This record gives sequence, C-alpha cells and structure tokens, in this order.
Amino acid sequence: MTPSPRLLLTIDYESWFAPSRRYDFLSSQDRRILDDGFVYDAIDPLLEKLSPVKTSVYLVGEFVDWYPDLPQKIAQAGHEVGFHCQVHRPLNTVADIKDDLEKSREWRAKYHVTGFRAPMINTIEEVYPLLEQNGFCYSSSLYAPAGTLIQKGKIWEVPVSTLPLLGHPKHILAPRRMNIPLVLGGEFPYGSSMMSGLFRPVVFKIIERQLKAGFSPVIFLHPYEIISPDNWPARFRRDLLANPLLYPFTLNKSDFLRDIVKAFPISTVAEYVKESLQ
Ligand SMILES: [Zn+2]
Repeated sequence: MTPSPRLLLTIDYESWFAPSRRYDFLSSQDRRILDDGFVYDAIDPLLEKLSPVKTSVYLVGEFVDWYPDLPQKIAQAGHEVGFHCQVHRPLNTVADIKDDLEKSREWRAKYHVTGFRAPMINTIEEVYPLLEQNGFCYSSSLYAPAGTLIQKGKIWEVPVSTLPLLGHPKHILAPRRMNIPLVLGGEFPYGSSMMSGLFRPVVFKIIERQLKAGFSPVIFLHPYEIISPDNWPARFRRDLLANPLLYPFTLNKSDFLRDIVKAFPISTVAEYVKESLQ
C-alpha cells in the first residue's frame, strides 16, 4: 500500500564538529571533551522544537556511552531512535561496518533500533546484508528522487530526496552521495540540510509540490543547525577555513524547522516503511 504523502523529517544526531573529518580518529574520550556537553545540552531544546511531530533521530552510538539516558529521552518524546553509526566517520568497507555494528549491538537491541543512516549519506551495496543480520528493517543512506523505495534483500532503502531535473535515474545503487556526478546528472539534493541552508524558500516550495504530487520527501537536519552551540560558528572557524563548503551546515535552520513543522504532515521513516508494507 502507498502511505498518504508526508514529510519524512530526520535528524542526524551528531556533534557540532562532525562535518569536519579532522576529529574522526581522536579517542572517544577526546571527542567527548571536544563536544563539551553539546549533544546532551541540545537534546531537550531540540525535542521541544520538534514537538508535536514525530521524527526519526539517527543517533551516533558513542553518545550513548557518554550519556546513557540520551536514547531514552528521544524515545520518550515519541521519536524513532535510529542509528548513525557508533562513531561518525566514513564507513566504506565491510570490515569497518561490521566492527561498528558489533560495538553498538547492545544499545541498539535495548532501544529496538531498526533504521540506519550512513554518515555523509555514503555507503556501499554490501551494507544491506549486514543490516539484515543485525535486525534492521530499513536504511536511508543514498540520495535518490522522492518516492524511491528499493528492496535490498530484506532491507528497504528509503533514500534522502533529490529532485530529478533531467529524468529519473535508471540504476540506484550505493554509493549515491552528494557529489559532482549526482548534481551534473540533474538531481537537486534538496533533502540535504546544505540545501535548506542555502535555498530555504526553494526547498520549502519543492517539499510542498512533491507532497501534492503524492511523494513523501526525506530530508535531514542536524542538532547544531537548530540549537546553536556556544561560541558558534567561531569555534568551527578553523574547519571552515580549511573547507568553506561546510559553511551552510553552520547556518541556523530553526525558522525553517518551525515552518515545516507547522505546514506539513510529518511521520517517522519507520512508520512510513511499516505502512508501505501493509
Ligand atoms: Zn552525519
């Protein structure tokens, strides 16, 4: 059954420094110090801004070691607790993905996690059997036009939305990340918070039109785009100088969030997948 069109609003719950790759190889303890309490301090104000809609919150697993009640807070507010990998970094090999899944096994089981979002929306086809073995139902780890729902073994892939301007892509295989070939292929990746940062009214209009056309767009935001960390974005200055393309991730999108929460029907991705299978 095709579920009624709704916006699938997702939150990639990661620390303020995640867009930079410079901290991926620190120890977890050093990253906790760098995070400086942000991921814990941001959760209550973020949940307040999301209310009353229910979203999918893909959580970086090491935060559960730092703050064991974090997933409980998300679940108690009625949101879906999903998985954004144990440590936020590119996972491009079977061995790395296996290791990451192993390290997160316990808390994922405790919170019945069934949804996976690869960091940087960048994964490989081999991820799907591993997700199946680890009790997942779906993944949202590619870019593709809204309305795309692909079965990969027993896993459903629900991609982050693009608007295809030059016709629908023929083959949808991982990796399908935001890069030059994707954009030159005529797909506008409006599901990315980079785009809602740069082209807010355009993205709002696209979502409105896609819903009217019967599609259910998937978009993502980050906590630091809603709740600004202290001394922001000055504390990220060095990373911005090194990679100015990260700038849109530092823009505050709480007005955009307020507008979409008010304007559109919204559900979790897990709910959407469940309804699709009925
Ligand atoms: Zn991420």
